[in-house]
Amino acid sequence: MTVTVANLGFPRIGPRRELKTALEAYWAGTIDAETLRERSEGLKAAAWTRQRAAGVSHIPSNDFSLYDHVLDTSVMVGAIPPAYGWAGGPVGLDTYFAMARGAKGACGCGGENEGAPALEMTKWFDTNYHYLAPEFEPGQRFSLASTKPVDVYLEARALGIETRPVLLGPVTYLKLGKVRSGALDPLSLLDSLIPTYTEILRRLEKAGATWVQIDEPALALDLDEAARTAFARAYEELKLAAPRLKIMLTSYFGGLGDNQALALSLPVSGVHIDLVRAPEELESVVRNAPGDLTLSLGVIDGRNVWRADLAAILDRIEPLARARDLIIAPSCSLLHTPVDLALETALDDEAKGWLAFAVQKLEELATLARALNEGRDAVRAEIDASSKAAAARRASPRVKNAAVAERAARFDPSHSRRAAPVAARLEKQRAQLRLPAFPTTTIGSFPQTKEVRKARADRAKGAIDETAYDGFLRKETEAAIRWQEEIGLDVLVHGEFERNDMVQYFGEQLSGFLFTRTGWVQSYGSRCVRPPIIFGDVSRPAPMTVGWRRYAQSLTDKPVKGMLTGPVTILNWSFVRDDLPRADVCRQIAFAIRDEVCDLERDGAAIIQIDEAALREGLPLRRSQWAEYLGWASECFRIAASGVADETQIHTHMCYSEFNDIAEGIIALDADVISIESARSKMELLEAFAAKSYPADIGPGVYDIHAPRVPSADEMTDLLKAAAARFKPDQLWVNPDCGLKTRGWEETRPAIANMIEAARRLRAEAS
Ligand code: GLN
Ligand code: ZN
Repeated sequence: MTVTVANLGFPRIGPRRELKTALEAYWAGTIDAETLRERSEGLKAAAWTRQRAAGVSHIPSNDFSLYDHVLDTSVMVGAIPPAYGWAGGPVGLDTYFAMARGAKGACGCGGENEGAPALEMTKWFDTNYHYLAPEFEPGQRFSLASTKPVDVYLEARALGIETRPVLLGPVTYLKLGKVRSGALDPLSLLDSLIPTYTEILRRLEKAGATWVQIDEPALALDLDEAARTAFARAYEELKLAAPRLKIMLTSYFGGLGDNQALALSLPVSGVHIDLVRAPEELESVVRNAPGDLTLSLGVIDGRNVWRADLAAILDRIEPLARARDLIIAPSCSLLHTPVDLALETALDDEAKGWLAFAVQKLEELATLARALNEGRDAVRAEIDASSKAAAARRASPRVKNAAVAERAARFDPSHSRRAAPVAARLEKQRAQLRLPAFPTTTIGSFPQTKEVRKARADRAKGAIDETAYDGFLRKETEAAIRWQEEIGLDVLVHGEFERNDMVQYFGEQLSGFLFTRTGWVQSYGSRCVRPPIIFGDVSRPAPMTVGWRRYAQSLTDKPVKGMLTGPVTILNWSFVRDDLPRADVCRQIAFAIRDEVCDLERDGAAIIQIDEAALREGLPLRRSQWAEYLGWASECFRIAASGVADETQIHTHMCYSEFNDIAEGIIALDADVISIESARSKMELLEAFAAKSYPADIGPGVYDIHAPRVPSADEMTDLLKAAAARFKPDQLWVNPDCGLKTRGWEETRPAIANMIEAARRLRAEAS
């Protein structure tokens, strides 16, 4: 029996973020479309060659995208909303980038020359990758508007490389779509969509492809009867359209669960399962799969950066490989991992020995395949090295911190409970803080101007020393405090000028975190992030934020909030160690943040904000697991927040608008005040909070900070009135949707002035 290696997708950005450079040069007009095309062809060719050299038999094509593969699919099927002015024919780069980033002239200001805004951007399943949501309308028609999958297949073939084209499957594609008007179920569009897919499959078959990878990660979600029927119908038709083309139905990010029978019954030639997320499914899938179905086993983690323990994987797969042909693969596309560990310069050798990026993961797969085909002895050295690395990480003194373990063991439920219930706490806090009705505040950061970014870059380069940098930050902070006083804000912030990023800033001061120089992962389009790597027990050696708040407070008599990132957000925006449950890692971070909260209180902070911008992102894909997640996540927040006296006011902040379905979890945080994004949804999303008679104070954002537009005092007054209709007046705070770091001062000043005016109007009406 033979084992071959497949890859499901290679990082598109290039080992040195070449795609970002090319895209941004194209948008800036410094390179033309032809040069952009040449550079992307170069990136694709390099990726294919590299994968072939690594020993991959099923090399993906059409995984590369200039911006996003979901957008590419919309273009392929001609789902281009009328606003972009597409009149049929090939879809040009202008149209493509208008859908991705907004039409030229789009400023969000709603003015006369306002071009079409970008499609809505949303997170891809439970990853940090953002896709552009397809937008459908009632009566939506589809037509094959791009043959990119065929074109790139031929492009590879011209280089002598046989590939397996990747398509986003029709059911998942429709499920990701939004319908702007009317109550249309996107799945009802299946019949009109299918002909574009059958046409592309026919063309791929004709072009000579033997396999096609069709991604249906929706199989890892809860599916209703309509979705299951859609799967059955869709794949019946796809099979008929191109009977010789073999379909690898690919599911990832979770187990098939109750969709297993469905997946195994579809008329496809192969099924890929994610054995990293759902190792327990191996036996049942093998038992239930028809004998002629090719199984593709996702045995290498495509969502994390740890080097695999090859012997452990072999122990599981060897018996099976003796019984049937197999494909082994990463659990999902390697889009979610950095490209090549060999390029990394910031990590020491010990740490590098624990890790594997995309290139290394393919090498691991090649080693596994050889071991399965030729016996372990053929790759003895590689297997031994991998076992040694796994053991070394387990045993490394850097990973373990006895004090952290001891503290976790001493945990008792009182560590996650404040002394008094929220109503009583708020009463004490009001008596002490003596804020006006409808108190005004901001979310924390102020504009990260060119000067701020330059000073940080100069400091990193060594062009200025610590003292000069510190002096610069003090000046910025002082100016921010002066301005906030003048304009009349009630609760001030120091402005977060010293922070590069809300997770990195903390990770760099906590133990147990690694930071890379080259570990970039695509977040969306040309935007890449370098997630921190949590490798060991987390603790806080010294205060992290106390100094800046103290300095800011020394300049004013108004309260200055302490500003922290919460444990769940730090966890969800990092690569997390795989040798402890996520909940345990989160609890360690929570204790570290708790130490900081207590130090801030000791230093005189009367209000401390703990941001949980990413709480929702950690939600499991299956509803049945939500309660467990929200249980430990909210407990971790409470661990961080509950070391303080009743009089100390704990704020939290969340910046997304779909919280109705997690309202219980948010209430369970037991914060005193929550600020949440709500301006874009015109306060409608506060229904659930109002319905549950939210017990704490709430600051529904009245200013959408995502657009450069300055909202008027009238507009914000109306939003506040809408909120006042749902909450008690003394529950309401007045604040923007999120931090202002991406805005300029020229917009921030008038917008905040208008916001304060709106609060004054409400106060006047109330008295
Ligand atoms: N305090 C952070 C800021 O204002 C919060 C950022 C966020 O919620 N994404 O920038
Ligand atoms: Zn926010």
